[in-house]
Amino acid sequence: MLPVVFKKVLIANRGEIALRIQRACRELGIKTVMVHSEADSEAKYVKLADESVCIGPAPSAASYLNIPAIISAAEVTDSEAIHPGYGFLSENADFAERVEKSGFVFIGPRPETIRLMGDKINAKVAMIKAGIPCVPGSEGALPDQNDEIVKIARKVGYPVIVKASGGGGGRGMRVVHTEAALLAAVNLTHQEAQAAFGNPEVYLEKFLENPRHIEIQVLADEYKNAVYLGERDCSMQRRHQKIIEEAPAPGVTERQRIRIGERCAEACRKIGYRGVGTFEFLYEGGEFYFIEMNTRIQVEHPVTEMITGVDLVQEQIRVAAGEKLRLRQRDVMLRGHAIECRINAEDPFKFTPSPGRIISYHPPGGPGIRVDSHIYQGYFVPSNYDSLIGKVIAYGVTRDQALRRMRIALSEMAVQGIQTNIPLHQDLLLDDRFIKGGTSIHYLEQKLAQQKLEKG
Ligand code: ADP
Repeated sequence: MLPVVFKKVLIANRGEIALRIQRACRELGIKTVMVHSEADSEAKYVKLADESVCIGPAPSAASYLNIPAIISAAEVTDSEAIHPGYGFLSENADFAERVEKSGFVFIGPRPETIRLMGDKINAKVAMIKAGIPCVPGSEGALPDQNDEIVKIARKVGYPVIVKASGGGGGRGMRVVHTEAALLAAVNLTHQEAQAAFGNPEVYLEKFLENPRHIEIQVLADEYKNAVYLGERDCSMQRRHQKIIEEAPAPGVTERQRIRIGERCAEACRKIGYRGVGTFEFLYEGGEFYFIEMNTRIQVEHPVTEMITGVDLVQEQIRVAAGEKLRLRQRDVMLRGHAIECRINAEDPFKFTPSPGRIISYHPPGGPGIRVDSHIYQGYFVPSNYDSLIGKVIAYGVTRDQALRRMRIALSEMAVQGIQTNIPLHQDLLLDDRFIKGGTSIHYLEQKLAQQKLEKG
């Protein structure tokens, strides 16, 4: 028998990640409580849980973001801990605090850590102090004096990007190409930041023109033990939404990996980080520049699991229970290559959401294929949430093998009744530049714009 870390965990999320967390709990011998909205009551993963509690109607604000309802569900079911998944309340420091104050364990970092990382200026200052390379820019918030702002931008060099400290999800940012446009941009971002995030502070940094998005996965315990589990390349994005991720990142050398990875692990020790986390970087000219830290499990965690053999969700639960990290850095070995395609219920080229009933479903399989998805034949994709309906992950000894396996997997996969973005993935898997590896964060949008032009 495995030692039981928790007896019962409440899963405060939905969809594929709810099922992923449930599987991790079951493997650890932990009972699960699934909370769900009225729109999700029929979902199979809800029925598979040991217990389930309806926490409100379909809109997220009334259910998955309803803190009192989630806390009461934990109370009535006698749960010990709450796993927030990603999105929803996962990076809400007030929620983490309420969970702890109500006597439950929050499966994530301490509320103070979440709060620190949620404020971009404070996060950046803390990261610089911890030795993480950042994008050159203003030291902290921009001052009020116009001449000072102009001086800072000149020193950084145009183009610059003005960013709101409280921003998130790609909002509250403005690129400035010339000094003439600077002050107006700063003012506008100020006003928007105050209105949208209730925090008027803005800062400025160098705008990198053609970077890649490369992130480092970390895992840390309460006792200042921390390891890094290599990197992921998530440059294939549209409107700041990742759609394909892979590990390792093409072209990143072992030396670069060790250098940046060790700094991230060291930063975790310095800030007393606990749990799984991701340091996101822009990568240009062989250099890493920190942009933000995500203090939760990420959608793309499976590619790291495939090449390290580490179950990140189980490790996350273990360290939340106060266990010591079982891994040392020398135990973390990267083998092979993994690619993930996010399958969305949407028009593959117009990107309009496509909710509705799945009338037939055939998942792919075979060597090296993993499917993380909660869908099934007859499942109804609700219109209230994110369009992600699953992830196909392909593992290969080489990147080329992973690509081949992914192409086969997507050709087998059939989802009928709704539209999915599988055709877009199939296009990208045959794209010469992507096959070569190392495309920038603008590649997909440029390609889509080009295709639109050609179609007239
Ligand atoms: P958010 O929290 O809103 O996601 P980030 O700071 O992570 O904000 O930035 C979101 C995206 O904006 C990045 O993935 C990148 O595409 C772009 N971006 C942010 N900072 C810069 C920069 N200094 N240079 C170029 N692009 C940037």
